Amino acid sequence: MQIRKVEWKELSLSFRANIQTSYGVQTAKHFFLLALEDEQGFTGYGELEAFELPDYTEETLEGAFGLIRGLLLPLLMEQEISHPREVRALFGWIRGNEMAKAAVETAVWDLHAKRKGISLAELLGTQRSTVPVGVSIGIQPTPEALVKTVGAYLKEGYQRIKIKIKPGSDYEHLKAVREAYPSISMMADANSAYEWQDIELLKKIDTLDLEMIEQPFGVNDLFYHAELQKQLQTKICLDENIRSLADLEQAYRLGSCQAVNLKIARVGGIAEALDIISFCVENKLLVWCGGMYEAGIGRAFNLALAGNEAFTFPGDISATDRYFEKDILTEDFVLENGSLRIPSGIGIGVELREDLSTFTKSEGTYYFDKKEGE
Ligand code: MG
Repeated sequence: MQIRKVEWKELSLSFRANIQTSYGVQTAKHFFLLALEDEQGFTGYGELEAFELPDYTEETLEGAFGLIRGLLLPLLMEQEISHPREVRALFGWIRGNEMAKAAVETAVWDLHAKRKGISLAELLGTQRSTVPVGVSIGIQPTPEALVKTVGAYLKEGYQRIKIKIKPGSDYEHLKAVREAYPSISMMADANSAYEWQDIELLKKIDTLDLEMIEQPFGVNDLFYHAELQKQLQTKICLDENIRSLADLEQAYRLGSCQAVNLKIARVGGIAEALDIISFCVENKLLVWCGGMYEAGIGRAFNLALAGNEAFTFPGDISATDRYFEKDILTEDFVLENGSLRIPSGIGIGVELREDLSTFTKSEGTYYFDKKEGE
């Protein structure tokens, strides 16, 4: 395959409700969409998931897009690609920048599946047609408000509830939910808001029968996570500090986690994600599919990956209406009995709306021979 042309769009989708995490408040999903066209006229899509501020990982949306345009696309377009796994090797010498790499690499997977005339899910070997899903709930102002919000999502059918926490909005909030719903599958995500000195508080949280506590400590810390895991019954799940299989191997060998929140964008693409899944299966680590508030294209990739039978725990892959009034696809993802259907059409199996102009802030085209025109 030879990539001949790349069209990009800068898009903004308003969230139905603001999302608060320990990092701050988000009101809209601002992102870039890539459409890679090959020499046969097939088009593969990729969604750049980096956030505007470098508060989740070091990458920023503008910085990542600059790297894609200035370095990753020129490198890709110089090459003949016979399998998407080659893209990881092609970008292998570039340090970090996983989300920029993933936006391009995922588009090549979509393209590869389309050239073969099969769905991406089939290409990835998934046997399932639906995926059980959970919901991630931002920090609510009071325990009562949180209980009400949880109740509404349970009513919709979500099979697992994840609750964002930060100091001051943690134990009492989680306890109120556990008392209201004694038997639900629930977990907490701290987005690295705690330190070792919070150990007593974390031990209190340990009594609430959570499925896991996600990323309590810093994004470079493996030592204190390992020390904490020795003192908790609850599994520690790592998110922010697992950017590659090598990171996970270290975390596993040190005993820093018993579960992994796997996000395609955070680990640089599908090839690395598949290797991480294999490692988790071999070593009996719990692995599940996380979310980055994806728009439709990113959600379709998550579903294709989450169909893998290694994922035994519901992912953070909510229905379209959890986040957006209107998404970029012709069809929304709808919750059916707590599950979402994996698209079965060729490639990622979804179509973009004809009219994306109301969401589009800027756009341009990158050509193989003419370089760039905007
Ligand atoms: Mg997380």
